[in-house]
Amino acid sequence: MLELTTPVQYVKGIGPKLSEILATKGIATVGDLLHYLPFRYEDRLNPRGIAELRPGEMATVIGEVRNSGLFRTRRMPIFQLTVGQGRSRLRCLWFHGSYLQEKFQPGQLIALYGKVEQDQRSGELQIIQPQYELLGDSSGDSMEDKAAASLEVGRIVPIYESAGQGRITARWFRRVIRRALEDLTPDLAETIPSAVRERLALVSEREALRKVHWPEAGESLADLQSARTAAHIRLIFEELFFVELGLELKRRQLKAQTGVAFQLNERVRGAIKKILPFHPTAAQKRVLKEIADDMQKPYPMRRLLQGDVGSGKTIVSFQAAIIAIENGYQVALMAPTEILAQQHYFSARRILENAGYRIVLLTGSLESDRKRDIRRHIAQGDAQLVIGTHALLEEKVEFARPGLVIVDEQHRFGVLQRLKLMKKSSDGGDAHVGTAAPESLPRAQSRGPAERSSAETKAVSAEPDVLVMTATPIPRTLALTLYGDLDLSVLDELPPGRTPIVTRRITDDRTSEVWDFLRKQVGKGHQAYVVYPVIAENEETELKAAVKMYRELSAKVFADLKVGLLHGRLDPDLKDQVMRRFQQGELQILVATTVIEVGVDVPNASVMVIEHAERFGLAQLHQLRGRIGRGAAKSYCILMTGGKVTEDGERRLDAMVRTNDGFQIAELDLELRGPGEFFGTRQAGMPSFRVANLIRDRQLLELAKREAAAVMAPNAEITQVEISQALYAMRARWQHTYGLVEVA
Ligand code: ADP
Ligand code: MG
Repeated sequence: MLELTTPVQYVKGIGPKLSEILATKGIATVGDLLHYLPFRYEDRLNPRGIAELRPGEMATVIGEVRNSGLFRTRRMPIFQLTVGQGRSRLRCLWFHGSYLQEKFQPGQLIALYGKVEQDQRSGELQIIQPQYELLGDSSGDSMEDKAAASLEVGRIVPIYESAGQGRITARWFRRVIRRALEDLTPDLAETIPSAVRERLALVSEREALRKVHWPEAGESLADLQSARTAAHIRLIFEELFFVELGLELKRRQLKAQTGVAFQLNERVRGAIKKILPFHPTAAQKRVLKEIADDMQKPYPMRRLLQGDVGSGKTIVSFQAAIIAIENGYQVALMAPTEILAQQHYFSARRILENAGYRIVLLTGSLESDRKRDIRRHIAQGDAQLVIGTHALLEEKVEFARPGLVIVDEQHRFGVLQRLKLMKKSSDGGDAHVGTAAPESLPRAQSRGPAERSSAETKAVSAEPDVLVMTATPIPRTLALTLYGDLDLSVLDELPPGRTPIVTRRITDDRTSEVWDFLRKQVGKGHQAYVVYPVIAENEETELKAAVKMYRELSAKVFADLKVGLLHGRLDPDLKDQVMRRFQQGELQILVATTVIEVGVDVPNASVMVIEHAERFGLAQLHQLRGRIGRGAAKSYCILMTGGKVTEDGERRLDAMVRTNDGFQIAELDLELRGPGEFFGTRQAGMPSFRVANLIRDRQLLELAKREAAAVMAPNAEITQVEISQALYAMRARWQHTYGLVEVA
């Protein structure tokens, strides 16, 4: 008898070689194999008659091979196969099909699947490059093969993705999965708590596994194709339910930990209000309250602040920082790039230093003496707000009293780094505590020594609060899973006085018109960005393009204007200088690569020209565009394209022209790229699912989340024992699959 945990090579027909190939598909156990679901189904019970086919439809046809052969056109060899049913015939063509010679013998039964088309000249129906499967072929004459052949016809047949460059075929999967199902132990432990199972009327796992591979004759083909049969729903729900249960568990563990219960008294409130350079929006007030409520709780805060570019996250995070600092704690603020860290540092100094707070900047490019100095200030507790890049993570930085960690632009970090960060700062909790203030840093006036020492005693064991900020408007369902262990705040309102950005697409044969337009805008006192792509793989040549265009623009086209250049390879001091000159209005035009993508804030810049816009990702384009439209002036984003644009490229550019709404853009981006790509590969901690698909199964995800929360609620109808059983079952089966659930 096979268990779900049995290694896959114990299934009859799978030796060490095949199990190696299967491993590349993530199939190690019988359970993995059985959760390797068909990606589509063919109705070979009611295949289409050739005579009734219509152009444009996707169809499964079963017929007999009549003849086949290769003919050569001027452009390429084409393989032609004629399949018949009685007197009807259907032609199939494969371009460059030489490899198919000798494959087919007249009289063989064949199943075809593809799009029916009408040949323009002859008017005959044909299928170009159909998927095919020879039925009951003569390659194996054993009894077993004959029996297995009955799996291929007269039923709804599952089609699997092949593996090992076609060495493992759909047909092979069909037979082996059939065998595994036959030998599977009859008593599979139920994993989903019975209350949930009953409420949702879920079928048993055994039944689900059987029917998903061997649908019954009456099953709706549409439901099968869209993974909406009862069998599919059971398996998908199960997978999502355990992810959500794991996340829910993590939240609870967190709430059991000791955090800092920050005080929010009148003095602290006053300090928060004092720094505000403008009236906060209603959304900013609401979000600050959510954060402040968390910070007052005795367990650590884990909150994600989501807000579209320009929604004003920075000031909210500064206010949160003040709460911590006024309570005698230190704050770390981390940005993904040096430019951003520097920019935060400048605004922090502008807004907070006047109020007497002590701020330091710690980035990788500082001289080591300077770094050592700053680290000492941090370790001694003198630096109250520490701003840096992830150098803060990588280098040995110890905080005397870490109270709050703010991570800006989370999508650049990746989830694993986020976790590492939390660990790091909690290590800092028992770092040594010092009191001497160095001369170079001004002292805060607002606090007496008494408050300070009480904070120090607490800090020893308390986990710091964490606020993660992201401008990637992550679609809510995805945020719920990926950041399911975080609470979510959304800044859904832009500060007043902004006029919407006008976005236009223009082909680059009209470049001179674009430059004229840009010149006019600059003439009105505005500033402009001109952006060039630098994509990692051919960074060298593309960087040259930006540098070359900078030369051309500054020396010729805009010789009378002040033009600057900014890219990632510049010396940090120079970068800094260029950025500051642009910020102060000394430079009118900034030629840049995507280094300006996140966070850079120059309200007077109202024009952005993006060259080769078709080569940027959608999220990236949106982030770039977010650099303009920050002031009262009407802003323009001009997307220039050169050469041919792919279909996906068209959709991206289209979306940009159509909407400014980050959430809509994120939804489309997710659709175009899929969840893995959306967050930049699996290593970034994206859970990979066996049967679920986050785009297709959003509703089931929400359902799973609700059920997981219900099950864990204090008076749930499920017992503690059942929860432990469920979690135990989950761990045993899925430990290797979800890093997410396992990481502390
Ligand atoms: P992001 O959310 O993209 O980080 P920022 O925090 O950089 O946005 O804010 C964008 C711009 O809006 C900044 O210039 C900031 O000073 C300004 N801003 C933020 N909140 C307000 C407000 N309530 N009223 C007016 N301007 C604001
Ligand atoms: Mg920002």
